[in-house]
Amino acid sequence: MEADEEGFLYPLINQDLCRDCNECLEVCPILKEGHFKEEIKPDFYVAKHKDKDVLKKSTSGGAFTALSDLILDQGGGVYGVDFDNNFKVMHKRADTYEGRNRMRISKYVQSDLGSIFKELYKDLEDGRKVLFTGTPCQTAGLRGYLGGSPYIKNLYICDLICYGIPSPKVWENYKTLLEKEQGGALTDIQFRSKKVDWNRDNSNRSFFFQTSSNDEIHNDERYYKLFFGIKTIMRPACEHCRFTDIYRASDITIADYWGIEKYAPEWMDKLGVSVILTNTAKGAKLLYAAKETMDYDKRPASESLNEQDRLSKPVLFPDTRDQFWEDYKNKGFEYIINNMDKY
Ligand SMILES: Cc1cc2nc3c(=O)[nH]c(=O)nc-3n(C[C@H](O)[C@H](O)[C@H](O)COP(=O)(O)OP(=O)(O)OC[C@H]3O[C@@H](n4cnc5c(N)ncnc54)[C@H](O)[C@@H]3O)c2cc1C
Repeated sequence: MEADEEGFLYPLINQDLCRDCNECLEVCPILKEGHFKEEIKPDFYVAKHKDKDVLKKSTSGGAFTALSDLILDQGGGVYGVDFDNNFKVMHKRADTYEGRNRMRISKYVQSDLGSIFKELYKDLEDGRKVLFTGTPCQTAGLRGYLGGSPYIKNLYICDLICYGIPSPKVWENYKTLLEKEQGGALTDIQFRSKKVDWNRDNSNRSFFFQTSSNDEIHNDERYYKLFFGIKTIMRPACEHCRFTDIYRASDITIADYWGIEKYAPEWMDKLGVSVILTNTAKGAKLLYAAKETMDYDKRPASESLNEQDRLSKPVLFPDTRDQFWEDYKNKGFEYIINNMDKY
């Protein structure tokens, strides 16, 4: 995999080694007809973890914790997104509750998958139960990679409703800027902190971080402006995303239950509420098994279809996207940050 100028990884084929077997084309989730998606409509649920502490430490209603507990309780492996020591965003494996907890809270950066699919396959081969969580394109990629493997009976695939995925290079530059401004190394980052109440408006102001220079917890909205505001830092493919509908490449889908205060106010909670889509019988069974730790109830699909753009259409980039990247290349990240109104 090699990063392009925007910092996104793309596969490179070494033509000296390629045997022209075309297997990579067969497993590609974009080229493959159907994109490894389910063909039947999912059921929609509202859900909330019963433990308030879990809610506080989760992005939405703690669905990920309830589902992954079921796998960890059986000695299985949970695959999700964590930071490395330098806050680089990457997929990791966890077989402990502590490791899984580090995967909580959405990280709005494209994760580096490394060779995690191989590691996951080994778990399945060894007879372990596995939960994989990722963006819809990543879960489709995993389905392509595993093909018709008999081991997939032990695998549960969970995707998110995904707004679009930002560049790892922008994230690197942004971290460096925060450290320079604060005069200390980053020690903690939360993209979606519950220091502010959970609701759609607040999600734009819930980025909190800490550095080694003092004890203060800082809030910063600039990254959100780049991501949700001017929409210039997402992967080009997000504008043509094949996964922005209700037919999912996963067993179960988790996201924020935006609009729940209008549709079923009794479920509203300032600590967070999840929407869950069960896309397969396996996904439905997993949700049922989580009933000890999570309250849930069936809801009409129309509610989330009204509220979640990414269940009907991909993100639309602004016309200024090319100019943005031209300036990024020629003038640098700090110029961009200081001139965001231009885009
Ligand atoms: C890039 C991105 C865009 C999103 N867009 C939307 C949206 O438009 N609408 C919406 O309702 N919800 C969206 N979500 C999902 C939402 O933010 C929560 O992640 C989801 O509701 C799970 O919350 P939780 O409380 O169940 O899980 P938590 O306990 O907070 O766990 C977070 C889960 O997200 C996974 N994760 C974290 N970062 C990444 C990443 N970079 N790539 C892949 N997986 C990751 C973790 O592995 C874990 O499974 C998005 C998430 C991401 C990462």
